[in-house]
Amino acid sequence: MNHPTPFSTLATLCQQLEGTTKKLEKSALISGFLQKLQPDEIAPAVLLLLGKIFSATDSRTLNVSWRTLQKVEAQVAKSKKAPLSILEVHQHFAEIAGASGKGSRQRKEELLADLLARVSATEKKYLVKMSFGEMQHGVAEGVMQQGVAAAIGAELALVRRAALLLGDIAEVARLGLTKGKKALEKISLHIMRPIQPMLAELSEDFEEVFKEHGGQTAFEYKYDGARVQIHCARKSNSTEVKIFSRRLSEVTPSLPELVEWAQTKIAADSFIVEGEAVAVNAEGKPLPFQELMRRFRRVHQIEETMKEVPVRLHLFDLLYLDGQSLIDQPYQERWQRLAGICDKSLLADRIVASETNAAEQFLQQAMNAGHEGLMAKDLTSVYQPGSRGKKWFKIKPAETLDLAIVAADWGYGRRTGWLSNYHLAVRDSETGEFLVIGKTFKGLTDAQFKWMTENLQKLKISETNYTVHVRPQIVVEVAYNEIQRSPHYKSNFALRFARIKRIRSDKAPEQVDTIERLRQLYEKQFERKGEVGHGSRKDHEAYQ
Ligand code: AMP
Repeated sequence: MNHPTPFSTLATLCQQLEGTTKKLEKSALISGFLQKLQPDEIAPAVLLLLGKIFSATDSRTLNVSWRTLQKVEAQVAKSKKAPLSILEVHQHFAEIAGASGKGSRQRKEELLADLLARVSATEKKYLVKMSFGEMQHGVAEGVMQQGVAAAIGAELALVRRAALLLGDIAEVARLGLTKGKKALEKISLHIMRPIQPMLAELSEDFEEVFKEHGGQTAFEYKYDGARVQIHCARKSNSTEVKIFSRRLSEVTPSLPELVEWAQTKIAADSFIVEGEAVAVNAEGKPLPFQELMRRFRRVHQIEETMKEVPVRLHLFDLLYLDGQSLIDQPYQERWQRLAGICDKSLLADRIVASETNAAEQFLQQAMNAGHEGLMAKDLTSVYQPGSRGKKWFKIKPAETLDLAIVAADWGYGRRTGWLSNYHLAVRDSETGEFLVIGKTFKGLTDAQFKWMTENLQKLKISETNYTVHVRPQIVVEVAYNEIQRSPHYKSNFALRFARIKRIRSDKAPEQVDTIERLRQLYEKQFERKGEVGHGSRKDHEAYQ
């Protein structure tokens, strides 16, 4: 008879994981632990270790607040019942999440009380961390994949691919450990089971795009909405449709018109398509992203919200068609087959181009129509689930800030003898301090480099080997593509792809943009692009 594994084993493992910062040691600990589990304990244990109760494809949530937890904890008396097993903990959590309707609050509290009464102090510590999804033992998906691979004796690449296709590392661990490596090799794309979406890298400029894509690329509008993956299968007397969000949670009930279009405007027996759902106003103009979120949050009165916030769908990929996975086919082939089966009104706006002029015009057209920018897709690229790379680029028009130059580095090569790499700063309006948010040597002519070198030296405060620190006097207008969080600078922010557009002799250093404004602009980036039911900033940072 096999004995259930006590939850205390999992708590001990968490403690051990906290005790080392080395990834290899962490994955070895996980591997040893997984190998000793009973088959039905594997998936729940992997989830709990990751601070999750359910897999990403499961729409259930625990929904226990700090207040409830504290209230229950204060009342709990030690129970004489046997200590909990891993499975029992998982089942308790599942029941708590499942409790609904009248009396559910009390039921939830009873279940919580039972959990808390039967655990030691150490177990309780991790139980609480699991409830809030904040493990702090340094095991995220990557280390977990390594641990699972080691436990199975499989290559990391195989486990990674399986996890991306299944969207669930816990299920991969279960399959691999119970059925062996072969079972993982057989995993392919399945209809009604979402896969991790392919992601795009931010491009510096069109030149980079053409260079990376071999001189020619497909540009599509970048719509400012929510990504949807639509699975559809026709049966003899019905058609099943499921819609998943970027985070792979099911959002079918919120989008009935998309269900209908999948059934009526796409001619195939079974397919998986990807696209962007965008909320529009009565004239068909795109609305801010938050409007669409209202649709996702709604569970009741969907009919009314449908009228209030109509949605458009812009399809851009076909991953599966009539029993066959297409993810290993080139993008151009997938696009052509998509265009062959779906109503033109559902297709994303797109051109294939090989020169910057055409690309710039198309970008202008996208912006005029109220969209976010462009996507550029390598015509020959396969669909790589879950990866962010240069096969897909996102192109956003540059924004600008007025910044003060607070230091400059001596150049080398062609720029030897010039102060040519400029440290750019915003101002803290409360303290008056100038805070660096990036450096650039881009955008100036040779004559301007010379002017800068002369004038910056007149403002010198101090000098090290490479850098001249100056009084903030010279103001420049700087174009950039994105604001990122950065530990390198005291400001905690850094500009991506900064380049100087012009020297603003008309502006005083007190008039440059402030750190407060930068913070607001940073936040605004997430208002535009978020995610259903999740912290969009977290989402973004996790992907960077
Ligand atoms: P970002 O979230 O800034 O990394 O940009 C990528 C996102 O843009 C995707 O996940 C989609 O939700 C969205 N998007 C909008 N239009 C397209 C398109 N034509 N192709 C791919 N993704 C698109």
